[in-house]
Amino acid sequence: MKTVIFCILAVGLALLTGCTRSGDPVTATGDATPVTSKANAQFAQALKLDDQQDFEDARRGFIAKPTGKILAADGTVLKDFDAYGFLGGKAPDTVNPSLWRHAQLNANAGLFKVTEGVYQLRGFDIANMTLIEGKTGWIVADTLTSRESAAAALAFARQHLGDKPVSAVIFTHAHADHFGGALGVISPKEVAERKVPVVAPAGFLEEATSENVLVGTAMVRRSIYQFGRDLPRSAKGNVDTGLGKDVVYGAVGILQPTWLIFRATQEMDLDGVHFVFHNVPNAECPAELTFSMPDKKLYDGAENLSQTMHNLLPVRGAKVRDSLRWSNYMDQALEQTADAEVYIGSHNWPVWGKTQIREFIAKHRDVYKYTHDQTVRLINAGLTPREIADTVKLPQSLSNFLGARGYYGDLRHNVKAVYQFYMGAYDGNPANLNPLPPQESAKHYLELIGGADKAVAAAQTAYDRGDYRWSAELLNQAVFGDPSSKAAKELLAKTYEQMAYMAEAATWRNSYLTAAQELRNGPPAKGASKAMVLDMLQQTPIERFLEAMAAGLDGPAAEGKNLKVNLVLTDTKESYVLWIENAVLHFKSGAPAADANATLTLTKDIFVKMMAGTAGVKDTLMSDDLKVGGSKIDLVRFFTLIDKAPGTFAIVTK
Ligand SMILES: [Zn+2]
Repeated sequence: MKTVIFCILAVGLALLTGCTRSGDPVTATGDATPVTSKANAQFAQALKLDDQQDFEDARRGFIAKPTGKILAADGTVLKDFDAYGFLGGKAPDTVNPSLWRHAQLNANAGLFKVTEGVYQLRGFDIANMTLIEGKTGWIVADTLTSRESAAAALAFARQHLGDKPVSAVIFTHAHADHFGGALGVISPKEVAERKVPVVAPAGFLEEATSENVLVGTAMVRRSIYQFGRDLPRSAKGNVDTGLGKDVVYGAVGILQPTWLIFRATQEMDLDGVHFVFHNVPNAECPAELTFSMPDKKLYDGAENLSQTMHNLLPVRGAKVRDSLRWSNYMDQALEQTADAEVYIGSHNWPVWGKTQIREFIAKHRDVYKYTHDQTVRLINAGLTPREIADTVKLPQSLSNFLGARGYYGDLRHNVKAVYQFYMGAYDGNPANLNPLPPQESAKHYLELIGGADKAVAAAQTAYDRGDYRWSAELLNQAVFGDPSSKAAKELLAKTYEQMAYMAEAATWRNSYLTAAQELRNGPPAKGASKAMVLDMLQQTPIERFLEAMAAGLDGPAAEGKNLKVNLVLTDTKESYVLWIENAVLHFKSGAPAADANATLTLTKDIFVKMMAGTAGVKDTLMSDDLKVGGSKIDLVRFFTLIDKAPGTFAIVTK
């Protein structure tokens, strides 16, 4: 039964923990080249980066600042409030000056009073927690990523605002950085006993527990690039994520909603406060709501509206998002919030003033609409993704607006997302219908060039004149074509560093710097641990695990095998028949099949732990809650066919 330990992972944002390296990592040491320094200096001149309004808004209503660290139960440091202390003063030449300013703004951690009866905790995690004063207690909107950060934030608020119970919870959307800390705010028992309303958008639980289950392993691996998790916090390392500072990689859980918002507009009172909710699915997240509090003239745009251009397709990978729908929601928001004088969101800092809010929403609306429309125009003119990405530039009225610049999303990446949304990944050129795999073509190119050393010499010339994109392309061929070339890896790492230093998007900076780190140190030795997400996995429907299990079946190894297994869950009274046919794993809900090779009877708790790979032999074989009927050998044969992806795959090396 040891073999019944394989990996799947369900994480809303694919943000999880546990990857370690052996030995001392070599990290970025390179200075900015003269070309990079000059580019950054010119970048600063093009924008009004000394505008102070955002800094005033990011500090407005400040009550108190947290210090020290947030720790896990075992003492692991999950969050160090001093880690970004280096962010003062003028931008160093190793950071894009626009990103530096944004990183400074996001560094304003603390408890803030937004308006009468509304407070925000910022900088305790990547997202914000909003507290609204009800008649009897706190209405908590969004509960951060982990139990630890949420508990710390709420305790900090209680210390400064007084101790009151949580009287309602609102989840704005189904990404883990907004619900994962729910159990640090209130327990399911308390919710049930005190009948505490838990409000969420329609489809919340399904999306939260299943978005990314199938490809969670790869998304977690790639999110390490996007969020720069393993980078040092420094002017040559991680300065921000675009949406805020660190994701707090603690224990992730979830609460079942008691009220769902499924209409375009739905009004309700929570603990004596009037709310107007709007259901806005399938833009930033498959399940999302925004809300207004008319009595407070406040609008919460959730994550459809942040102080950055958002992702139409995150660099970690996801299903592509609908830019036109997103833009339409912004248009509706302008009508829904005509009276709003305070804007808050799930990330970053608020906006005050009717005119400022309308401008903020309208600019975001038009950034997504312009991106959409101009991409479509160029698709019809015959341009392909890489060409469109190099062609589309925002008009000055949009590009000068700092609140919608590409700190998290990036216009060039978003343009490709629009192309993919309508046209798919293929660009129409038959040269790309059946190209060689990257390593094969790299070997051929190296042969033509005359070996890795010649490629490195040519790349060095490109690097010296600041043509980093060409240097990276050439060296990528050299690294893939000749994995033994240390010189190619080192120059590619140096190239990525310069690209990182120039990048305005924190997600690009983090990706380039993580790539440089892995070129020098190799991919991580260990993949993500699933132990931290068990609370959430317990809420995940069994079907999601079975789908992931089917997608883990080793097709070639399963060829010609016909095995049937009954799965009986004693506590939830569910029963499934699983069988392999044509090297495909099928499952059906129903009574155990009489002709099955084996029957596995157990509790959902143990099944989930087995799926997550956290159950040891003792938990399984020795448990009274697990029984095997029929052929144990066949059961082991069945589970041996399921792949155990460790999530440590190489990305920039071969
Ligand atoms: Zn978020």
